[in-house]
Amino acid sequence: MILSNFELIFDSLIEKQYFTMIQVKNYVLGQWISGEGSETNLYNALTGEKIGDTSSAGLNYQEILTYGREKGGRALRKMTFQERGRMLKALALHLMDKKESYYALSALTGATRIDSWIDIEGGIGNLFANASVRRQFPDLPYYVDGVAAPLSKNGSFIGHHIMVPKQGVAIHINAFNFPIWGMLEKIAVNLMAGVPAIVKPSEFTCFLTELMVKDIIDSKILPEGSLQLVCGLGRGILDHVDSEDVVTFTGSAHTGKMLKAMPQFSERSVPFNLEADSLNATILGQHAVPGTIEFDLFIKETTKEITIKAGQKCTAVRRIIVPDNLLDEVQKAISARLASTKVGDPSMEGVRMGALATMTQVERVRANVNRLAQTQEIVFGNANHVDVTGGDSEKGAFFSPILFVNNDPFKNTDVHEIEAFGPVSTIMPYKTMDDAIELSRMGKGSLVSSIVTPNDQEATEYVVGAASMHGRILVLNKDCAKESTGHGSPMPLLTHGGPGRAGGGEEMGGKRGVLHYMQRTAIQGHPTTITKITQQFQVGAEMPEANPHVFRKHFEELVIGETVFTHKHTVTDADIVNFANVSGDNFYAHMDATSLEGTIFERRVAHGYFVLSKAAGLFVDPKKGPVLLNYGLDEARFTKPVYPGATLGVRFTVKEKIDQEKKTEDDIAKGIVKFLVDVYDETGETVALATILTMVKKIDQTK
Ligand code: NAP
Repeated sequence: MILSNFELIFDSLIEKQYFTMIQVKNYVLGQWISGEGSETNLYNALTGEKIGDTSSAGLNYQEILTYGREKGGRALRKMTFQERGRMLKALALHLMDKKESYYALSALTGATRIDSWIDIEGGIGNLFANASVRRQFPDLPYYVDGVAAPLSKNGSFIGHHIMVPKQGVAIHINAFNFPIWGMLEKIAVNLMAGVPAIVKPSEFTCFLTELMVKDIIDSKILPEGSLQLVCGLGRGILDHVDSEDVVTFTGSAHTGKMLKAMPQFSERSVPFNLEADSLNATILGQHAVPGTIEFDLFIKETTKEITIKAGQKCTAVRRIIVPDNLLDEVQKAISARLASTKVGDPSMEGVRMGALATMTQVERVRANVNRLAQTQEIVFGNANHVDVTGGDSEKGAFFSPILFVNNDPFKNTDVHEIEAFGPVSTIMPYKTMDDAIELSRMGKGSLVSSIVTPNDQEATEYVVGAASMHGRILVLNKDCAKESTGHGSPMPLLTHGGPGRAGGGEEMGGKRGVLHYMQRTAIQGHPTTITKITQQFQVGAEMPEANPHVFRKHFEELVIGETVFTHKHTVTDADIVNFANVSGDNFYAHMDATSLEGTIFERRVAHGYFVLSKAAGLFVDPKKGPVLLNYGLDEARFTKPVYPGATLGVRFTVKEKIDQEKKTEDDIAKGIVKFLVDVYDETGETVALATILTMVKKIDQTK
């Protein structure tokens, strides 16, 4: 089935002139341009055949960066977060429709269908996830961060923070192992922030990135200039970076450190996010003995992390840390699984592990396996030979899974230093949990580690002890295994990156990632001015009386700050008793005036929920109108006890408006309106505050 699908797609790719001989181009300055000459030959990882070449020689990076900043940046900065989010969603849907052509080409990188799934659909998933992050942002091109800071006695001077898109470009230099995910997980975030991107994939696998960029550009979903692509070596791409640019680098620590040390980064304060190699560890808990579900999970997950993408994952498990009395059993179980893993051409029946991306990688991995073999023993696999099914065993970039055992990992420490970026991992023993933590920390900073244990106490001990040296920790047990996303997968809504050797970078992480591309600026002024700038009502700002009532107005007509000042209501004992009857809340402070000694209440006190409910009775204009529904409360606080006899009124203010798109043609066009409910008593003091969330119909039903 998969075979014939591939054949069909191969044919269609030949029509598009892939596979005859690909000449991978650069998309810069609004056009597809070939670099001068040929910098790099491109190969089919399965057969070693040359499939094309690429070059970036002769590109003018000064112009390319300026074009991005001026053309793409300007267009993106005009869009609100909601518009950018919808743009990402449209792009994700568009690319999903075309995914089979990426799978077909991805096969030439040596990837199996599952490997490609991580790269392709995992990457597109990042677009979807970031599109949804728009719900955490306002309907503005910039973001209002945190809450206002009161800076004056009388409230006429306050401070706040806004975050605006940097007016530079995001330059992403990516590793060869994720030609699609590597691009999408990064551009999703900078596009959401309103910053254009220049992507430089690795020369080795850039042909796959190029195919997707062609589709992105042809779709015209992104504004021109917001995505440029540099294939080939891209040397010189960082020479013209400036203070508003952001550089992210994913690759080896060696290259990363060399690039980060370029003087322009310190001279112009350019952020450089480094994601480098990492000696990730997995720990078998002492309670996960053979016979437990957790022991089996450990073996399965660890073997998967050795073989998936032929071990070419920055998050792959390099160090397997197990209780010393279980080392033999773990070794046998993992070896048995590796022995049943068929290596070869992924289109052949039963093949589970494909090839490395290039013969260069084979040489690099072999060299590092040989270095590791000086201080530890290979117990499975052969660095010089592997049986393959399909593909070309001589010219294809195949490599055997290799399992080492290191019996003295505190003394023989190469395993904590050398990364063989392929299907290579080492088992080592520990005696106590403190030892296991120490060993995992000896990697000097990792992207991820995991512990598999049925015992939460043991898990807590590991997590708290090891976390400062890890960017992410997976705790796996039988209760979460079925839905777990696994050790190896960074999730778009969680931070990806690790301390120390892993580069000290942080990316993705949902909203956190987006904010990396923005400048935080403190703003100070009168609350009315700050309300105007932030488009969020600030306490102390002008509150013009709404006329007519805000419930009579459509989304477009509501103005931030306009306020309904309600009638008053005097609270009685009967109110409290009635509310207790309706709600069933007979808490002593409301119902037993004799029980208040030693409490903060002087008399029986009204329920906080009564105060809010009564407030609704005062601020609601009941007749049918544009307000469709109230879907919740945020930030509700009862700030002062309300006793019988208190007279309450409400200031009901339009606090914030967020546009919403129609989900279907027949959907009612509407937006979200947040209202500030400020309930005060006869002294004018606030007794309760809340933000209510409503949906309000638009006048224009077409959008
Ligand atoms: P690499 O050799 O360090 O190359 C990384 C990128 O840097 C490539 O695009 C490379 O381009 C580019 N590059 C090298 N020198 C440059 C220069 N002077 N100017 C501009 N760009 C330059 O790494 P790799 O072999 O591609 O990837 C494997 C490594 O990446 C492994 O060590 C792995 O652990 C790490 N990795 C880390 C993560 C993470 O998230 N932390 C993810 C994936 C991989 P060319 O390829 O065109 O030379």
